[in-house]
Amino acid sequence: MAYDFDLFVIGAGSGGVRAARFAAGFGAKVAVAESRYLGGTCVNVGCVPKKLLVYGAHVADELEQAAGFGWTLEEGHFDWGTLIANKNREIERLNGIYRNLLVNSRVTLLQGHARITGANEVEVDGQRFSAEHILIATGGWPQVPDIPGKELAITSNEAFYLKDLPRRVLVVGGGYIAVEFAGIFQGLGADTTLLYRGDLFLRGFDGSVRTHLKEELEKRGLNLQFNADIQRIDKLDDGSLKATLKDGRELVADCVFYATGRRPMLDNLGLENTGVELDARGFIRVDEQYQTTAPSILAVGDVIGRVQLTPVALAEGMAVARRLFKPEQYRPVDYQNIPTAVFSQPPIGTVGLTEEQALEAGHKVQIFESRFRAMKLTLTDIQEKTLMKLVVDAETDKVLGCHMVGPDAGEIIQGLGIALKAGATKQQFDETIGVHPTAAEEFVTMRTVTR
Ligand code: FAD
Ligand code: NDP
Repeated sequence: MAYDFDLFVIGAGSGGVRAARFAAGFGAKVAVAESRYLGGTCVNVGCVPKKLLVYGAHVADELEQAAGFGWTLEEGHFDWGTLIANKNREIERLNGIYRNLLVNSRVTLLQGHARITGANEVEVDGQRFSAEHILIATGGWPQVPDIPGKELAITSNEAFYLKDLPRRVLVVGGGYIAVEFAGIFQGLGADTTLLYRGDLFLRGFDGSVRTHLKEELEKRGLNLQFNADIQRIDKLDDGSLKATLKDGRELVADCVFYATGRRPMLDNLGLENTGVELDARGFIRVDEQYQTTAPSILAVGDVIGRVQLTPVALAEGMAVARRLFKPEQYRPVDYQNIPTAVFSQPPIGTVGLTEEQALEAGHKVQIFESRFRAMKLTLTDIQEKTLMKLVVDAETDKVLGCHMVGPDAGEIIQGLGIALKAGATKQQFDETIGVHPTAAEEFVTMRTVTR
C-alpha cells in the first residue's frame, strides 16, 4: 500500500525534529506536525530560556565579587522586562532556525494539533494523512497536585512570560526545576522560599551533593523549608497569595510556583484508536527500540518517561531514524553514565553512580571528597565552597561516579562523562596532568581516601 509519508512525526521538539531530519536525510518521505512551538519544550519553555535566566541571575554574583577586584560600581538596577524581551527575541530566532532545519531537510511541516485516527493514519486540523510509521514525540507538561487554589499557582510554562518579577515567591518541589527557578528568582532579587515535601531535596542525587547544595543555598539566604507542603492557596484582598501548609503554617507571597514533575503530553492524541499501551506511571510503553505495543507506532523523548533530558531525546530520535531507514548504522542508546547538570546557584554537575547507588549495587567503594573555596573568591568576602567527589570501585579501581557542586560544574562534568564512558580508573585520573590553576584540576589531584 502506498502511504502519503514513510514517517509521520507528532511533535517538533528535541526528539521529533532529530528523528525527522535524519530520517529525511536517509531518503525517507517525512512529515512533522507541531501544535505549539518549533523546537519544543527545550527551546521555548525549557533548557534554553531557563539557562538565559540563570545567566541573568548569575550577574548578581559577578557584581558582588567585583569590589574585591577593585571595581567600584554604581548601584545596579535590574529590569525583568528587558531580560524577558531579549530572551523572547532569542527564542524567536531559534524557532526560525528550527523551521529552516526542517524545511531544508525536505520535511513537510504541518502546523496544528495531530490526532492519531488509525494504525497508519493521522489527522491534523481535519486533514488526514497516511504513514507507514508514526512517531509520537509529544513531550511532557507540568503536573500540579490537585489542591484547592491550584489555579492561582504558576508553573515553568508561565514563569517565562511573567510581566513582572514577583517580590515574594514560594517554589514548591525539590527536583531540577524547583532548585533552578529558586536560584533564578532569588538571584534576581525576589524573596524566595523553597518548599519540599521530603527531608532533603534532589532525591536520587548523591547525598554529599544534596547536603552541600542545601548549605550553600542557605548561605545565600534562600529560605529552605523541608518536610513542608501546601494544603491550599487563597487569594487575599490585596492580590497576594496565602499558602496554608499541611502543618497549619500560613505563608504569604506574590507568586506560588509549582515544579512537581511532568506528565506525558497525551491530550487528544487519539491513543484510543490504537493499540498503544501506557506503563504503570502513565507514560507510553515502548520496547528497547522505541516501538509501542502497536507495531506501526513508535515513541521517544519525555513521553516515554525514561530520562527526561534533551540530549537523551535527541539520541532516541536518532536511534529511531536509523533503525527505520538506515539499520546498518543503528546503535542502541546507552543509558549508562548520562552526564547531567542542575543549573542551580551554585550549579551541580554529575555523572555515573552516586555513593548510595554504588553501595546498593554491591560495590566496595572508596570515596574521594574535596571541599574548597574557589580561587576567584579569595579576593572577596564570599565564603562559598565548591564540592568535588569521586566514587571509586575499591576492587577494580574504576571510577564509578563524579559529582560536583560549584561554578561551571556543567561545563566540567561533560569531559568526565567521556572518561567514565571509556571506563577510566582512578589511577588514570591520577596520571592525568591537571590544568592549572583551575577548579577542575581537583578531579585529578584528589589522593586521600575520605571514606
Ligand atoms: P518536547 O521538546 O516537549 O517536544 C514535544 C512537542 O510536541 C512540543 O513542541 C509540543 O507542542 C508538541 N506536541 C504535543 N502534542 C502534540 C500534538 N498532539 N500535535 C502536534 N504537536 C504536539 N533538559 C536538559 O537536557 N537540560 C536542561 O537544562 C533542561 N532544562 C529544562 C527546563 C525546564 C523548565 C523544562 C520544563 C525542561 C527542561 N529540560 C532540560 C528537559 C527537556 O526540555 C526535555 O527533556 C525535552 O524537551 C524533551 O524533548 P521531547 O522531544 O520529548 O519533547
Ligand atoms: P522532578 O521529577 O525532577 O522533580 C519533581 C519534584 O516534585 C520532586 O522533588 C518531587 O518530590 C516533587 N513532587 C512530586 N509530586 C509532588 C506532590 N504531589 N507534592 C509535592 N511535591 C511533589 O521534576 P521537575 O518538574 O523538576 O522536572 C522535570 C524533569 O525535567 C526533570 O526530572 C529533568 O529530567 C528535566 N529537567 C532537566 C533539567 C536539566 O537538565 N538541568 C532542568 C529542568 C528539568 P519527591 O522527590 O519526594 O518525589
